[in-house]
Amino acid sequence: MLNHAEASEKFIEDAERTTWHDETLWFIRSKRDKVSKLLPEWEAFREQASLIKDHTLANLGQFLEEFESNAQKNGIKVHWAKDALEHNEIVHSIILKHGGKALVKSKSMLTEECHLNDYLTKKGVEVVDTDLGERIVQLRNEVPSHIVLPAIHLKKEDVGETFHEFLGTPKGNKDPQFLTEAGRQHLRGFFLGAKVAITGVNFAVAETGEFVVCTNEGNADLGAHLAKVHIACMGIEKILPRRKDLAVFLRLLARSATGQPITNYNSHFRSPSPGKEIHIILVDNGRTAQLARNKFRSSLKCIRCGACMNTCPIYRRSGGFSYNSTVPGPIGSILSPGLDLKKHSSLPFASTLCGSCTDVCPVKINIHEQLYEWRQEVTKTQGDFAKGLSMKLANGIFKSPLAYKISGSLMRNALKSLPNSLIYHPLNIWGKNRNLPDAPKESFQQWYQKNRS
Ligand code: SF4
Repeated sequence: MLNHAEASEKFIEDAERTTWHDETLWFIRSKRDKVSKLLPEWEAFREQASLIKDHTLANLGQFLEEFESNAQKNGIKVHWAKDALEHNEIVHSIILKHGGKALVKSKSMLTEECHLNDYLTKKGVEVVDTDLGERIVQLRNEVPSHIVLPAIHLKKEDVGETFHEFLGTPKGNKDPQFLTEAGRQHLRGFFLGAKVAITGVNFAVAETGEFVVCTNEGNADLGAHLAKVHIACMGIEKILPRRKDLAVFLRLLARSATGQPITNYNSHFRSPSPGKEIHIILVDNGRTAQLARNKFRSSLKCIRCGACMNTCPIYRRSGGFSYNSTVPGPIGSILSPGLDLKKHSSLPFASTLCGSCTDVCPVKINIHEQLYEWRQEVTKTQGDFAKGLSMKLANGIFKSPLAYKISGSLMRNALKSLPNSLIYHPLNIWGKNRNLPDAPKESFQQWYQKNRS
């Protein structure tokens, strides 16, 4: 598998797209800034959300059991899955029981994490993603490149081409309103025919046994209300203790995600309508392992708003696919190494450590500090020989003023006379996209001694 830097190359090749991607996400980040500043108590909300999540994670087992008991009292069938396979098997067994061959699914990063679509497709079940962005990437046989904006890597021209190919819209039509309407008409038949609908879960409330699904398109509601069976897939960290906690999180989520004061549809599911069924699957899939890692457990506070991606200078310029991970961007880079450190060892390095992600995070996760911690874990377990050697050399030079002086003088002269081919060659990836500045005539110390008067 390509590491992050290698995987970024394909995206960066298209300089125009890279700039446009960068600017689009920065626009959303700026919207988030404006809307959050309209709430004088914004920072107090962030603090409160962080404390609620800390408290919840410290008592996770208790709140999950409280939720299970209240949800069952409400008539919801509760399932537990230790990993992705068990989650997928449970979903499939429910579908088999109801004889469905096709289902509609609204956005759920958990089902992406569990590769549910692939699993069900192999079992002969057609899965239709109903979030417009997700449907676009599904038609293109891609995965979402952003957790809130799955098709943010695509321009309207790309969507026009995709719809022309798969939905038969007129070639060259890239009008967003026309394409959205075409998407709606295309999805309508699937909604009407599906016996089973799958949704994600944004928040589940232990106190009441209800859960909340937030969408801007209303597709989760349409699917869940038309189908006989609603399956909700939830990571165990999505639990909140009390209903009134929602007031904090719903305000933070929409503002942080897209700069909206509130998501268009915040639907509360509490009990099935007569003749219908609601199932909820509580999934671990590595979360309890992360909970046990003191340095990284707060990553489980994440409410998947995507704000850290929109602000990250690396994500904005390298695109979501470069992370090779279901959750890309800064939060993905601290969650994915916990799932498979070897596979995702390059991700903690896909950061400038500028701390912008931490500054915007609505639940105050210290993302950049955890990135730094993961780097140390990677170095401990997979040490890079060349880097280790150069750091030892640098250590020797920096701790001795004489060695520093001599090596500075040597390098200033060497840089003037070294042939370019020694620096810019295929083995030195540093020189691939960078130019060395001209070597100064003298060291700072020499300059200072001459000019101090
Ligand atoms: S880490 Fe924070 S900013 Fe990033 S997606 Fe999660 S909640 Fe949002």
